[in-house]
Amino acid sequence: MTSGGDAPGMNAAIRAVTRAAISKGIRVKGIYRGYKGLVTGEIQELYTDSVSNIIQRGGTMLKTARCAEFMTPEGRQMAYDNMRREGIDALVVIGGDGSLTGARIFAQEFNVPCIGLPGTIDNDLFGTDTTIGYDTALNTIVEAIDKIRDTAASHERLFFVEVMGRDAGFLALNGAIASGAEAAIIPEYNTEVDQLEDLIEHGFRKSKNSSIVLVAESKSKGGALDIAERMKTECPEYDVRVSILGHLQRGGSPTAHDRIIASRMGAAAIDALLEDQRNVMIGIVRDEIVYVPFTRAIKNDKPIKPELLDVLRELSI
Ligand code: ADP
Repeated sequence: MTSGGDAPGMNAAIRAVTRAAISKGIRVKGIYRGYKGLVTGEIQELYTDSVSNIIQRGGTMLKTARCAEFMTPEGRQMAYDNMRREGIDALVVIGGDGSLTGARIFAQEFNVPCIGLPGTIDNDLFGTDTTIGYDTALNTIVEAIDKIRDTAASHERLFFVEVMGRDAGFLALNGAIASGAEAAIIPEYNTEVDQLEDLIEHGFRKSKNSSIVLVAESKSKGGALDIAERMKTECPEYDVRVSILGHLQRGGSPTAHDRIIASRMGAAAIDALLEDQRNVMIGIVRDEIVYVPFTRAIKNDKPIKPELLDVLRELSI
């Protein structure tokens, strides 16, 4: 199943899981709409040709959803009953932090082998260098910022561009480096107020006629609109604009990198099950496949390399 927020490369992962399993003599069933489909029994057998012509497509052919019922013991019992009825012995869940939390709880309650694949553009799962969808989203952000820069430069404006990340700054920070932006305001470092103050204090480079600052969305700390409001009050001399990239970051055809990691991770999920691994997320660290226990993948905040902030600062003078 795919569950939670969709990410480019989920289809490549579905294809890989399906074909790797079939090539090893294992039957595969697709569960539609994440845990919702497990609770309601929306399940269909997948064959090699069920996953033809999807590797290049964004989104997920299995659909995805959020399922409140699965958060309750009664809902999970229904899910387990459906699993048994369908003859499903193990689950492969492709999703983010929430989906893998659900898998961990379900696996514990019913002693079901579950393997997770990190499917999220946010790159916020611990124990893997990258997640399926992250590279595509990063490239989408860079493409969008290249366009915003034309207006920023022509009108001599300061743009705050809000990107996704759900309390993780990977997209904002690496997006800023890749697009040559002035700065990134990310939840991992200080508060936004501190980071903004820092920017104002050091001054945006005078010789530049425009500036672009990436802001990681943050439920707890506010986003680009809040920062722009403060900027307008405290530094009225700047012509401030906000652009929130929103859902366009989640779509599109996956990059080669995302297709490759999704394919490798999908195949590794079947290897893991055959090795009697259970309740682990498949990760890739230094280009090698690793198994990360759910508890490690979910609970730990994945650190951002301070070096990246240094590079951004150094190169934006
Ligand atoms: P993501 O996987 O993208 O982080 P969500 O956080 O929305 O997405 O989680 C997806 C689904 O995973 C939820 O709708 C729910 O069905 C399941 N889930 C999340 N957290 C839990 C939990 N603590 N217990 C059981 N199921 C959960």
